[in-house]
Amino acid sequence: MAETVPSLLAQGAAATRAAAHLPPAAHLPSVAHLPLAAHLPLAAHLPLAAHLPPAAQSADATQSATRPAAEGFDVVVVGAGPAGSAAALTLARAGVRVCLVERGPFPGAKNMYGGVLYGRVLDGLLPGWWQEAPVQRWVTRRATMVVTPTQSLTVDFRTTAWGEPPYNGATVYRSDLDAWLAAKAEAAGAVLLCSTTVTGLTRGPTGQVTGVRTDRPDGDLPARVVVACDGVNSLLAKEAGLYRHPEPEHFTLGVKEVLALPRQDIEARFGLAGREGTDIEILGCTGDVPGGGFLYTNLDTIAVGVVLQLPGLASSGRRPEELIAGLKAHPAVAPLVVGGQLKEYSAHLIPEGGWDMLPDLAADGLLVAGDAAALCLATGIWLEGVNYAIASGAAAGEAAAAALASGDTSAAGLAGYRHRLESSFVLADFKRLRRAPGLVLSERVQRRYPQIACNLVERLFTVDNPNPKPRLLAAGRAELRRSAVRARDLARDAWTALRAFG
Ligand SMILES: Cc1cc2nc3c(=O)[nH]c(=O)nc-3n(C[C@H](O)[C@H](O)[C@H](O)COP(=O)(O)OP(=O)(O)OC[C@H]3O[C@@H](n4cnc5c(N)ncnc54)[C@H](O)[C@@H]3O)c2cc1C
Repeated sequence: MAETVPSLLAQGAAATRAAAHLPPAAHLPSVAHLPLAAHLPLAAHLPLAAHLPPAAQSADATQSATRPAAEGFDVVVVGAGPAGSAAALTLARAGVRVCLVERGPFPGAKNMYGGVLYGRVLDGLLPGWWQEAPVQRWVTRRATMVVTPTQSLTVDFRTTAWGEPPYNGATVYRSDLDAWLAAKAEAAGAVLLCSTTVTGLTRGPTGQVTGVRTDRPDGDLPARVVVACDGVNSLLAKEAGLYRHPEPEHFTLGVKEVLALPRQDIEARFGLAGREGTDIEILGCTGDVPGGGFLYTNLDTIAVGVVLQLPGLASSGRRPEELIAGLKAHPAVAPLVVGGQLKEYSAHLIPEGGWDMLPDLAADGLLVAGDAAALCLATGIWLEGVNYAIASGAAAGEAAAAALASGDTSAAGLAGYRHRLESSFVLADFKRLRRAPGLVLSERVQRRYPQIACNLVERLFTVDNPNPKPRLLAAGRAELRRSAVRARDLARDAWTALRAFG
């Protein structure tokens, strides 16, 4: 039978001392099968109650009648991505005994994204975050480009305001960001356990979640609440039956190359100075596969990639690397990336179904946050997941702490989580933008409208003397006829867009 955490904590103090204050890089695969206790910081070997600040100790005492005998942690958070670290930080600050479990050898080791963090969500959690966050560049130029194989049309916005505190968006490497956020949770008192994969949930006689199973020979982790922040395709949310209709069309595959270029070349190509950065979102660049592209600047690398709807990718028979190669060869993109040395190639699923794919957010003893709860917003002009992950992780942490304090960790006791999300930007955005993912991935938005827009502008700016200047309305009608878009469909799409974005 698996040993409990308290017995493990009692055993391994000596082994732990050495590992206690090593940086994330020290949690490498070579130590992956040391006993569980060997990964816990020194402080974890004190009696568990010693971790609780005075206020939480008294709250704890009032709960003793309603809680089972103290074993392990109050909360296990699975996954040290942005959602998990925000949850663990919030819980630790509330004086809750929390373990943050990560399968990678250090937080961020396995994670990828396009590259922009929208930091406003950190203002409350980590005031003045911009002074120490591991930022590459501050995004001061934001462009949305529509392309056809031979044309491009860009709305290119710049502002100096985003280059000053409190900033707006920043390009950040995930290995840096995730390690930084997890270190904040650790500093607040959370126990970070790396190189440990959670393989399932443990349950009590009534079905209530009572902890997690891990891939360690010695390590089930009992807990009164589990917060699943295990990312897209969450094993734990699925095991708990929280997803009713996971449809393949709700997922895209994000594929990214990181290309190294001298810093001065990047600044010259993108018109940047100092720490200024660019974010370009691209529509119409994925051929017959619904999706989109992106291009972000880091200090001395460029991230370029595509997101590809799964069923469309499968039926196209095309490879993601072909589609990135096509994007890099596009006449509007090639001059920006030429000569870049490939440093990294990575791929990851993205939950893009929005409101329609959201799972139940709680079960008895279980909450789910971040990508695990499909809280990633992909609406063409916005691809944001990290800020929703942080907000939902923090809300899950608050709700779990409140449920522990009330002694009710059933789904009803944890319902405060959904209320918190409903009264924040998280579910407000998902609800309002519920029709956006379907619209953006539709064939008209993917291919026909970019073609119409590019042709129209080409016509407008082509000087065709001795013919007189074209009339815009007439040219628009001619383009619509040529592309076989029916007025009815155009009106319906415009109405959907207005309702979503208006
Ligand atoms: C190509 C691409 C581009 C993107 N671009 C952006 C962007 O520019 N800006 C933005 O805001 N968002 C972007 N996103 C979305 C963003 O990456 C996610 O929404 C965000 O990472 C979600 O955070 P999370 O903490 O919920 O999950 P993740 O970041 O996926 O973290 C989950 C963590 O759980 C761990 N884990 C998983 N299973 C287990 C297990 N069984 N046991 C232990 N640990 C486990 C993982 O190792 C990982 O550390 C992009 C995504 C992709 C794929």
